[in-house]
Amino acid sequence: MDEAGGCACGKVRYRLRATPLVVHACHCRDCQRLSGSAFLTNIWIERGFVEADHRALRSVMLQGGSGKPHEVFSCPDCGTALYSKYHAAPGDTVLLRAGTLDRPEAVRPDVHIFTRSKMPWLPLPDGVPVFESFYRIAEFWPEASRERLRRNIAGEG
Ligand SMILES: [Zn+2]
Ligand SMILES: [Zn+2]
Repeated sequence: MDEAGGCACGKVRYRLRATPLVVHACHCRDCQRLSGSAFLTNIWIERGFVEADHRALRSVMLQGGSGKPHEVFSCPDCGTALYSKYHAAPGDTVLLRAGTLDRPEAVRPDVHIFTRSKMPWLPLPDGVPVFESFYRIAEFWPEASRERLRRNIAGEG
């Protein structure tokens, strides 16, 4: 996959250089609050596959649901949040907001999570797995994604 994206004002641009490990539609209260909407579509991917001037981004440290920090990276000018780093998550991986892609239709959610706080007026599509909260990576991710995560944790990409 090679997709471009960026913030609302155009100052920050990035390229997504690999297929997502997994794509979440997250209906947790944090994602609702941060998006101002019903859910966020998050591309979980190794940070190294998001080509950007990461140091130019503004980061804000929030408290994640796990108790460990949830760091949100945004354009310093317009404030568009581009990705989150959950410090509880394994490896050097980020959750990139799919709505910031130039072609957000390039991905679709593999799974809906934290549906316990899903908006009651929002129907979910048939055939996509749904979890009330989170799931176990080992039980849900395809082997290719688990292998990529193992390499990432080992510092190999
Ligand atoms: Zn901007
Ligand atoms: Zn969430």
